[in-house]
Amino acid sequence: MTTQKTLHIRAYFRALAREGVTDLPNPLHKRTGTMDYFAHLETPRAADTGNASEPAIPAFENAAELSAFCNAGNATFTIVSEKTGKRFTYRVAFPTDRATGKLDRSSGIMFASALTGPDNTKNYSYFGNIRRDRFEVGRKSKLAADAPSVVAFAWFWQALTQQRLPPSLKVYHMGRCGRCNRPLTVPESIKAGIGPECATRSDGF
Ligand SMILES: [Zn+2]
Repeated sequence: MTTQKTLHIRAYFRALAREGVTDLPNPLHKRTGTMDYFAHLETPRAADTGNASEPAIPAFENAAELSAFCNAGNATFTIVSEKTGKRFTYRVAFPTDRATGKLDRSSGIMFASALTGPDNTKNYSYFGNIRRDRFEVGRKSKLAADAPSVVAFAWFWQALTQQRLPPSLKVYHMGRCGRCNRPLTVPESIKAGIGPECATRSDGF
């Protein structure tokens, strides 16, 4: 954390309040400390694929599709505030079974990670868990509970589950299926972020 980029957390929450983000989950809004407020500005613009003026992937328009995608078990996505241009990229996925190397879809828990480095396929830092729709910062989180990416995720996930995301908040997948992470090639699948095979799984997994 470099000093020139640290900012008192109260200033951060004032900045969030100016964006209309006032309903941060307790006890996050009462915490004090410093944080690397601008760290996320250095992350790559993951949602921009190729031509920056013409993103190939549209933002989710349908709340139910967005929720299904984010809960599909292996989803990587970028959230963007159209008001401020701030963005964060997250991965929300089931844990990997060490024995098989496959995702353990029966575990009842998903791990949340944030993109914290230049490689948007690898550089994710774990910070929390999702159980029964509820997000909590993990005890073994690699990010501070008051890091902007963690605070933004807590707010995002609560708004997602309550289906009250503001229109100014855009969410993009990264061209890969939210369930199996394979590249999406069928145009109809790109809107929902779920590939045709995964979309027809009758067990939901
Ligand atoms: Zn898939």
